[in-house]
Amino acid sequence: MVSSTADASARLATLIAHSQRIVAFTGAGISTESGIPDFRSPGGIWSRMQPIDFRDFLSSADMRREAWRRKAVIDRDFQQAAPNRGHRALAALVKRGVMNAIITQNIDGLHQASGVPGDKVIELHGNGTYAACLDCGLRYELAPIMAAFTRDETLPECDACGGIIKSATISFGQSMPQAAMARAQAESVACDLFIVLGSSLVVYPAAGFPALAKRRGAKLVIINREATDQDVSADLVVHDEIGATLGEAVGVA
Ligand code: NAD
Ligand code: ZN
Repeated sequence: MVSSTADASARLATLIAHSQRIVAFTGAGISTESGIPDFRSPGGIWSRMQPIDFRDFLSSADMRREAWRRKAVIDRDFQQAAPNRGHRALAALVKRGVMNAIITQNIDGLHQASGVPGDKVIELHGNGTYAACLDCGLRYELAPIMAAFTRDETLPECDACGGIIKSATISFGQSMPQAAMARAQAESVACDLFIVLGSSLVVYPAAGFPALAKRRGAKLVIINREATDQDVSADLVVHDEIGATLGEAVGVA
């Protein structure tokens, strides 16, 4: 554990300078400085409501309406959010060619918005900035769906196959995206530095990647306001703000 931000940033800068293949693993905490609340901090979404399970979403039109009602609320934060210093610092590392991949649990699209090429972002929980048909996979933009839903709670249906349309995120009870999981695993094994940013590391299987990277020889850094269960195995733990810590370390404002 390091106490001052300057000390933490200096140590992180040294680790980054000595690494050739870095992987970032981001959670909701990297986007709080962009105005998107995380899940588990006090006042977060989960302290107020239970998540909707995928089976309930499929089987009940009422549940689908509730899901779209919540989506409308979350979307207001998403619309206004822009990448912050933490996102920009990661984008700089990708641009310098030392960061191979960003594995993210986030669904806000802010890594791509900060200039990281889409093929460097591995989305474990999907993307909430658009929707897709659950049967044929056809992509749908949110604006017309939200407009119809806000008018009279019309549930979206696929024009091509009549299937159920859902925000392109992975819900509880829904299977993980196989290609993304396989890539995340390969990157975790191959990297020499694995940096966790803003994740409570309680959502599995995603939270298994830091431990995997460490087991396979990478140095592990965890930057998170609160302690996590994996702090004990990390080479550097920083309980501080992501933007300032990472921004200083990388030299990005
Ligand atoms: P989490 O809410 O469980 O944990 C976030 C952690 O980040 C907390 O431990 C908190 O202390 C820390 N944190 C918050 N702001 C910080 C800051 N500025 N600097 C340092 N630390 C900070 O999030 P999770 O581990 O990502 O798991 C929650 C799930 O919710 C994920 O699966 C994700 O799909 C989803 N989610 C996504 C978003 C988003 O896309 N922005 C937002 C909320 C939830
Ligand atoms: Zn369809």
